[in-house]
Amino acid sequence: MADDSLPAALRPSTVAVTAGRPPHEPDQPLNHPLTMASTFVALGDREYGRYGNPTWQAFEEALGELEGGTALAFSSGLAAVATVLDLVGHGALVVAPDSAYNGTLGQLADLEMRGRVRSLLVDVADTDAVVAACDDAALVWIETPTNPNLDVADVRRIAEAAHAAGAYVVVDNTFATPLVQTPLADGADIVVHSATKYLGGHSDLLLGALVTNDETLAGVLKGRRDLFGSVPGTMEAWLALRGMRTLHLRVERATANAAELVSRLREHPAVELVRYPGFGAIVSVELAGGALAADLLTRKTRLWVHTTSLGGVESTFERRRRWKTESATVSDALVRLSVGVEDVEDLWADLAGALDDLTVPGAS
Ligand SMILES: *Cc1c(COP(=O)(O)O)cnc(C)c1O
Repeated sequence: MADDSLPAALRPSTVAVTAGRPPHEPDQPLNHPLTMASTFVALGDREYGRYGNPTWQAFEEALGELEGGTALAFSSGLAAVATVLDLVGHGALVVAPDSAYNGTLGQLADLEMRGRVRSLLVDVADTDAVVAACDDAALVWIETPTNPNLDVADVRRIAEAAHAAGAYVVVDNTFATPLVQTPLADGADIVVHSATKYLGGHSDLLLGALVTNDETLAGVLKGRRDLFGSVPGTMEAWLALRGMRTLHLRVERATANAAELVSRLREHPAVELVRYPGFGAIVSVELAGGALAADLLTRKTRLWVHTTSLGGVESTFERRRRWKTESATVSDALVRLSVGVEDVEDLWADLAGALDDLTVPGAS
């Protein structure tokens, strides 16, 4: 009865659709139901709603299988980030990208201000510089590509150097998704996700996750989640798993749209620089007209929505430096585009129309 014709390791698209489901038995639902429960009958594995929930577990199973480890869901991406940064001892050194997600850098700055850790910010695309910074580190934080400069890190080489120094290696995989890279296979100890973005994919939930292939570490992280109560909402976990069923389709379409827009944006006179790592659906453009042009662009479109966040089916964009907390390594003229799954011709018509308005006729 066993189907020997199936490969031992299913391909990611198949995992996205099939993982985290109830067994194929008569009367079982195809999807895990929403289990709304604050407590469970005593003497089982869960006991209380803070320690586990079958709906979270379905999401965790699917994400764990995609990343190649044990996954834990958290109330948000930043709750997951905080749990990881809390792993290091008092006064320990954390190495991190100078243009990482501003919430991550905000947590680091807060910890440093209170004397809890020391931090060293590096250009994560400069592998030699990161390797040199690893010497004294207890934790090396990698985000690749970075938000919003889209710098790409060499995870393997950095992980080797960090491990030689005895440091944890953490990769925020929110932008790439496990369809593009699986950092645990490249030597990372922990993968971080803001499932709010691509995993959920519909701009309707906040959720975070950690994944590790070290069972001891998984136990420690679960213990912290139990202690802090940074647990996900049941509805959010359910929606995120539903979103993940089409992750591969959404990423494939959004990536194709992004690649097409990149080639057209590179030709547009209002655009000075296009940042695109060659994969994924986030594109950052720096406008020739500076911050003013960037602000104007976000007000001149009908389809593109001016909003923070990213990774939904709908195309959105934002001038990141409108946030006072955004790193100074990010250009004032930068607009980050989160390309959605609409028809690319409509997306381009809307964007090109707004960009044309910014181009002064006759200017060189
Ligand atoms: C949004 C984001 C986070 C934070 O996640 P939340 O779910 O918003 O708390 C962390 N890292 C990256 C790269 C992000 O884009």
